[in-house]
Amino acid sequence: MSIEAKPVNPFRVLVRDLPASRRVAVTPAFVAEAVKGLPLRDALDGEASTLDDGGAAQVELYGDGENVHVNGKVTGKVTVACSRCVGPVAIELDEPIHVTYLPVHAMPAELDEDSAGEGVELAENDLDVYPYDGEAVDLEPLVREQYVLAVPFAPLCREDCLGLCPQCGADRNHAPCACEKPVDPRFEALQGLKLPS
Ligand SMILES: [Zn+2]
Ligand SMILES: [Zn+2]
Repeated sequence: MSIEAKPVNPFRVLVRDLPASRRVAVTPAFVAEAVKGLPLRDALDGEASTLDDGGAAQVELYGDGENVHVNGKVTGKVTVACSRCVGPVAIELDEPIHVTYLPVHAMPAELDEDSAGEGVELAENDLDVYPYDGEAVDLEPLVREQYVLAVPFAPLCREDCLGLCPQCGADRNHAPCACEKPVDPRFEALQGLKLPS
């Protein structure tokens, strides 16, 4: 005899349950969705489905009047392509979380449409502010963002990655390619020739 229940969204924390402690498992599918569209992720192609990405968010939440403070950390792994050789690079996450959720109506005015047009310079202390509907805090955008932010601008599989040969495309980490050898003897004769100008 099981109790009929709606599927629970583990990322959603009801304000009436605060203070609360929450650990949410992050699945490989969640990470795949979060970083979809990043060029260095898409470069992995079909490999992405075999990655053991993911981790967990472990946070404490407490209410303070209308605001909800979330503290903790997001840990785990996200795999992207090396910016030189396109091989997989596993990025480890261990990001501390200190954010405040404000009721939607209390969000800073500059986030509203009255700033339409110009880009908005957010003050530094506004950066870690998320909106919530007043009833429940949704941790999902927060967690998703940590995985996106963890990806470096130019990830490397190793500091001295040799990258791909710009001429033949071979991965020079595996073996030097023919392009790196001294000039092919077949071309030596050509070098002596003067081309008509
Ligand atoms: Zn590499
Ligand atoms: Zn080459």
